[in-house]
Amino acid sequence: MEILCVYCGDLFEASPRHKNQIACKKPACQRARKAEWQRRKMKTDPTYNASQKISQKEWARANPDYWKRYLLKHPEKSERNRVLQAIRNRKARSKKTGIKMDTPLIAKMDASKGDSFHPLGQFWLIPVVAKMDALKVNIVRVPICYP
Ligand SMILES: [Zn+2]
Repeated sequence: MEILCVYCGDLFEASPRHKNQIACKKPACQRARKAEWQRRKMKTDPTYNASQKISQKEWARANPDYWKRYLLKHPEKSERNRVLQAIRNRKARSKKTGIKMDTPLIAKMDASKGDSFHPLGQFWLIPVVAKMDALKVNIVRVPICYP
């Protein structure tokens, strides 16, 4: 029987030996599945969580330049970090002052243009309520073709 992979959306042949299969065999999907399993385990298993944190600290001590080099290789990630940090700062500020920050984070480039705001380009789609990963999106203009 073929089922849909929840990560890539491709159909794959389900193994009769593994029930509740949700991911196909592709390495990226298997990595995503394992990462999700680990995230859940960290939340639900305090012992596992503690031992993971200790080994992460040890690893970080052994690889002190890892993140510096990583961010040099992936400049877009530091942009993402900046945005996420700005949001965390806003949340912290609004908690302190009690003032709700419901205004959109996207600043208008030119106030004189009134409400003609066209969000085109690359953005981070960041869930406010759920603890989900931010999503990088490209907003592009698609010309309408009349037949
Ligand atoms: Zn897949």
